[in-house]
Amino acid sequence: MMVFTLDHWINGSSVPPQDGGRLFSRNPADGSFAAAVAFGTPHEIDQAVRAASAAASAWRHQKPIERGRLLTALAAAIESHAEEFERLESLETGKPAWQVPLEIASSAAYFEFYGGLVNTLHGDTIDLGPDHHCFTKREPFGVVGIITPWNAPLNQAARAVAPALAAGNVVVVKPSEFSSATTLVLARLASEVGFPDGVLNVVTGDGYETGNSLVEHPGVRKVAFTGSVRAGREIGRIAADRIIPLTLELGGKSANLVFSDADLERAIPASLNGFSFNSGQICSAGTRLLVQRAVHGDVVEGLIEATQVLTVSERLGPVTTAAQYQKVLEYFDIARDEGAVPVIGGSVLSAERRAGGYFVPPTIYTGVNNKMRIAREEVFGPVLVVIPFDDEEEAISIANDSDFGLASGVWTSDISRALRVADRLEAGQVSVNTWLAGGVETPFGGYKQSGYGREKGVEALHHYTQVKCVTVAL
Ligand code: NAD
Repeated sequence: MMVFTLDHWINGSSVPPQDGGRLFSRNPADGSFAAAVAFGTPHEIDQAVRAASAAASAWRHQKPIERGRLLTALAAAIESHAEEFERLESLETGKPAWQVPLEIASSAAYFEFYGGLVNTLHGDTIDLGPDHHCFTKREPFGVVGIITPWNAPLNQAARAVAPALAAGNVVVVKPSEFSSATTLVLARLASEVGFPDGVLNVVTGDGYETGNSLVEHPGVRKVAFTGSVRAGREIGRIAADRIIPLTLELGGKSANLVFSDADLERAIPASLNGFSFNSGQICSAGTRLLVQRAVHGDVVEGLIEATQVLTVSERLGPVTTAAQYQKVLEYFDIARDEGAVPVIGGSVLSAERRAGGYFVPPTIYTGVNNKMRIAREEVFGPVLVVIPFDDEEEAISIANDSDFGLASGVWTSDISRALRVADRLEAGQVSVNTWLAGGVETPFGGYKQSGYGREKGVEALHHYTQVKCVTVAL
């Protein structure tokens, strides 16, 4: 089978690795080799940061409407190259055919949204009395380093790159070593639609050498990281030493609360989608389903039935890496040892059903309490725990008893209860009678160990700027 060769994208050109070093990504749907990826060294990070720094001044001084036009053109280019993106994204992530187009379309939407929104970026005037004129401006940081994970490669890159560029920053992206291809195509298209050389660079490679060098590089003035708590912590230490701002989008164990007055016809399919979309490899997956005791049986039965539609490979893709596959299997053992009851799934699929891929079955556990590891730790696979509760107070207390605080859901027909509970949930997102219905327009980010800072919405545009206050004596 043909293996793609992927080089860095620096200063508007494809750049092979200086020392010839390469990593290999695999197609998780069958385990075959997918791409030979350039292994970026500190030298190539330095090259990319220098190229970005050289482009920074001209880029930030373009009128916002001109930057916005280029972003909008890039959105159109993503759409017109959807087939190329879909092919490469499928190759490196094994995502099923129905799913990839959704992610490519939402990636384009980030550029469309921020291409327009940047025209609204403005400061304030502050009244200091008749002797002064005082105003604020929002200015870019300069070089922003963006590090992304493998679960939604193009989407995660677009989510951070679009607001960063719109705000007038220049960017060096380090995509996941398991899924670099589509981020490189994005950078190539940016050049094709007219972004100046050096404004958007991509250096591929691993976390420990390539990613680390990016965060440590003295020319990088802000970092946006999406990934695990472990890596977020390591990056946070470097950022603290360097005193640079950081956006951290980390993991989750999000609680989805179903009260007995909920419309179960809507709650059950949405909850299924909430934990199983992208085979559960979503930081904001609703993986703790808290169900009021009176409807616990109905909800579990309904979910088991609904899960039948998740045919492995057609509807449910593989998990993306061999290590992630092993991790999910380990959690099956952990759950079993803790006494959780798998009402569906919970064991390895036959070799025939896996066909060499990293497929795991959709899995639902009952008999779970919130102290168990299966209820507290992020699995990042299609694995749900169902925990019963008696009343509102108990539901909130279980939901908030977590190290994470990314998303949450409330299902009820009582609007007062919905708002009361939404107010008390410790999470960056609360969905009422839906699961994560937001889009590029809605701010997204975590409480507690799910991270800090916000992506998406107008908030992200602000997070990629720093405020300058100018005071003039009259
Ligand atoms: P990961 O932390 O292993 O890797 C993410 C990225 O960071 C990769 O590009 C990797 O090469 C790089 N990296 C790893 N260690 C590094 C280091 N020490 N210094 C610099 N860079 C480093 O995460 P992953 O396994 O690719 O992704 C899964 C995790 O991402 C899950 O925990 C998931 O919850 C999280 N995630 C969060 C969000 C969000 O928006 N909150 C979205 C998607 C995924």
